[in-house]
Amino acid sequence: MTIFSKIISGEIPCNKVLENENFLAFHDINPKAPIHILIIPKTEYKNFQEVDPKIMSEMTQFIQQVATFLGLDKGGYRLITNNGDDGGQEVLHLHFHLLGGAKLSWGHLSDSDPKNHL
Ligand code: 5GP
Repeated sequence: MTIFSKIISGEIPCNKVLENENFLAFHDINPKAPIHILIIPKTEYKNFQEVDPKIMSEMTQFIQQVATFLGLDKGGYRLITNNGDDGGQEVLHLHFHLLGGAKLSWGHLSDSDPKNHL
């Protein structure tokens, strides 16, 4: 059981933004932008590579609702999912990072210089 499953069950508290029957959105405990939300399905999929694509259609709709609810639809936002070891995924329960509230630079979320990986 991942830490996110414990958040879904209420065993671990979270700062909730929106929830419906199948998805939950809550503030990241270690924000990397003025607004940093994690969006997860209540069913445990390890990551994007393993999610049932049919779920993604509903999840897309939920993510759009969260962005609109927070007013990020107007100014824009960044949506990220880290997938697996090389993607930097730490929690093995599919989640999208919704980042916004400022004009985000491209580099600030990555500590790897592509020149070092040629
Ligand atoms: P990943 O690196 O797997 O893509 O991202 C995991 C994210 O989960 C990180 O941004 C981290 O700050 C966040 N996180 C880890 N544990 C907790 C927690 O207990 N509560 C909340 N709200 N966020 C968490």
